[in-house]
Order: sequence, then C-alpha cells, then structure tokens
Amino acid sequence: MVIMVSPEIKFVCRDEVSKPLEESINDLRYCALPVTDSSFHPSQITECPRRLIYRVNGDADKMHIGDGLYQSIQDETFKNKWIALLEKVKFVKVLHKNAIASDCNYNLFSKVDAVINIKGDIFAVKAIKTCGLDEMEEIRNKGAMKKHVIEMVLYIWLLEVDGGILIYDSDYEHCMFHIKPYKPIVESVIEKCRKLCDFKLAGQIPNRPYKSKAKECSDCEYRCVCWENKKEGR
Ligand code: SF4
Repeated sequence: MVIMVSPEIKFVCRDEVSKPLEESINDLRYCALPVTDSSFHPSQITECPRRLIYRVNGDADKMHIGDGLYQSIQDETFKNKWIALLEKVKFVKVLHKNAIASDCNYNLFSKVDAVINIKGDIFAVKAIKTCGLDEMEEIRNKGAMKKHVIEMVLYIWLLEVDGGILIYDSDYEHCMFHIKPYKPIVESVIEKCRKLCDFKLAGQIPNRPYKSKAKECSDCEYRCVCWENKKEGR
C-alpha cells in the first residue's frame, strides 16, 4: 500500500517555497516543448511525410520515446549555456533569445536559440548536442548534417536574416558552421509543405515511403499505428 503524506500536515507544504519552484519548472518544461504539434517543425521537415501528418493530426497512438521532461530540461540548460557564452563574446550582440520562426502559409513553426548581430550582419543560431567525440570528428571531416543544414536554411528564410550559425557541441569541444541563404532548399520545403497541407485538409495520410524494416520506421514513434495489420511491404 502507498502511504501519502497530506499537505494539511504542517511539515509538508505546497507553499511560497515549493509553488514558485514548481511553476518555474512548468515554465521551463513548456517553453522547451513544441508550442503546438499541429505545425511542421523545420527540425523535422526532412522526415517521412506520413510521420509528419500523424504528428499534425495529434495521433494519440504514438509510442512514448524517452523521458520528455528530463530531456526538455537538459535541452533548455544546453541552450542557455550557449546564449550565455555568446553574450560574453565582445563582437557579438545577442538580439533575441528563443526567437519564433514561423510561416502560417506553409504551417511551419519553430524557435531558434538566438538571433545575434556580428559586425552588422544578423544571424540565426542553433546549438546541437552531439553524441561524442567520434561524431564530432565525423562532423569536422565531413561537414554539417544535412537535416541541420536544411533546418538552418529554413530559419534564415523564415527570420529574413543574413545567415545562420550552426553549433555542434560534444561537451568537450565544439564546431561551428556558417550557413548561407539557399533558395532551392526553401523552394523544395515549400513544395513538401504544400503537399502535406493538402493531405491534412483532405483528411488523408501519405503512402508509406519505406518498408517496415527501414531504419526510419524503427526510429518512428508512429510505427505501431502505421504498420498495424500490415505485413512487410508498402
Ligand atoms: S513507420 Fe515508417 S512509413 Fe510509417 S510514418 Fe513512421 S517513418 Fe513513415
């Protein structure tokens, strides 16, 4: 049997000490989560179209992956560390923190960690935690990851800024990329968003672009609902 200690007992309080702390954690929790699941997020735009539609539909059958609250707090701490570091750089002026980057025409919504001014040019900033030194080495040798570059190109377009700074951080070292505006990526994402909006408005789900054993499907929180009653195939 679980024994509960009632808040009416004098030494167990939800008072001016615990409540503001509780609310602060709530604030932290919600600002680190997507504001709405009914938008497409630049960080997810390279994913399977079917997965994106499940997400905007708010499909309740998704599988729980990871500890959301713990992850959100970690992400927020990580982001704040980078904002604090940038504020210490003499030639950088931090103009905005957690800036909203959105476009209602294409149902895109997200936030960048910061918008900064470097010697008169304005940049969107996104810091990304890497898995370790091996991954960092690969990034240094091969360049930034495609999905992050696409994400940043979208932020540059959405915020109408001069460029973007992509920061990879492994806890031990960091590596930065300057991303410049690139129209072909924006145009292809606009095309994808238009098609996704058509599916959404028609109440339809795109076909599966993968086979069930594909890596994309094994990493997908909708794999149960997507492949329910389906055998291997499309
Ligand atoms: S399980 Fe695979 S096909 Fe289905 S939504 Fe997820 S990634 Fe797309």
